[in-house]
Amino acid sequence: MSDWLRETLHPDYAQALRVDEMLYDSKTEHQRLKVFQNGTFGRVLTLDDVVQTTEGDNFIYHEMLTHVPILAHGAARRVLIIGGGDGGMAREVLRHTSLDHVTMVEIDAGVVEFSKEYLPMLSAGAFEDPRLTLVIDDGAAFMRETTEKFDVIIVDSTDPIGPGEVLFTDTFYGHARRALTADGILVTQNGVPFLQGAELSNSMRAFKALFADWGCYTATIPTYAGGPMAFGWGTDGPAGRVPLDVLQSRFDTAKIETGYYTPEVHKAAFALPGYIKRLLP
Ligand code: SAM
Repeated sequence: MSDWLRETLHPDYAQALRVDEMLYDSKTEHQRLKVFQNGTFGRVLTLDDVVQTTEGDNFIYHEMLTHVPILAHGAARRVLIIGGGDGGMAREVLRHTSLDHVTMVEIDAGVVEFSKEYLPMLSAGAFEDPRLTLVIDDGAAFMRETTEKFDVIIVDSTDPIGPGEVLFTDTFYGHARRALTADGILVTQNGVPFLQGAELSNSMRAFKALFADWGCYTATIPTYAGGPMAFGWGTDGPAGRVPLDVLQSRFDTAKIETGYYTPEVHKAAFALPGYIKRLLP
C-alpha cells in the first residue's frame, strides 16, 4: 500500500496525491516543507501539507500570473514578485527579455535554497539571471518600506494562513498600490472561489476601494483542487481594455512559447461564472 499526502487546507474537502517517493521532509524556520515524487505530477512541493506547486501543472499558474499582466501592460520594465520561493514565477517573468529588472521578496530562504536543489526545473536558471534581485524578507514589511515603483506586482503567496496571512490585508494592498507606477498592475493569487469565497470577497472589497479597474480572472489548475482558481487584478491604467489583436501582436513580439497562455485565453479568463461574480462587491 503506497503512502498518500492528504492536503489539510480545507475543513471538509481534501485532495490526496500518491507519494511514490518522499525526497525531502523537513521544517524550515517558517514552515514544514516536503517534496515527493508522484506519477502524474512529477515532483510535488508542499508547505505545511498544502500543495504549492508541481512539476506537471505549475505552468498554468505561473503563465497566467505573469503573461496576463505583463502583456496587458505592454511596456513593463520593472516587476516585483512577492513570495514565489520555488522560482517558477521568476522563471516565467524573466522570459520577457524586454524587462530590465525583477525583484523577488520571499520570506523563507529555506524554500529558495531547497527548490534550487530539489526542483531546479521550476526556476530553470532564474536565480542566476542578473536581472533578478532576491530579497529575503516579509513581503508585507518590504511593501510598507519600499520607495521603488514597479510596473507589475505579482503576489505569489501561500494561502491566508501562517506567514501568508499578511499578504491578504487591506494595509498590504494599499502599500502595493503606492508601489505601482501610474499605469501599473497588481495581480494576486486569490484561492479557489468555490472553497475560499470569503478570501476572494475580502480582497475584492479592498481592490474596489483602491483601483479604478479592479476584478479577477481565473484558470483551472488540477492540483489547486475545487474548481477554477481566482487571480486578483487591480490597475488605474488602460491594461484591462487592450484589444485581442494588440495582445496577439505583443505576444508574437515577445516570442514566448507557452503551454496554457494564449491571447484568447487571456481575454476569456476575465469572463466570470455567476457564482464567482456574486462574490465580488
Ligand atoms: N502557488 C502556490 C499556491 O497557490 O499555493 C503558492 C506558491 S509558494 C511559491 C508561496 C511562497 O510564498 C512560499 O515560498 C512562502 O514561503 C512565501 N510566503 C508566504 N508568506 C510570505 C510573506 N509574508 N512574505 C513573502 N513571502 C511569503
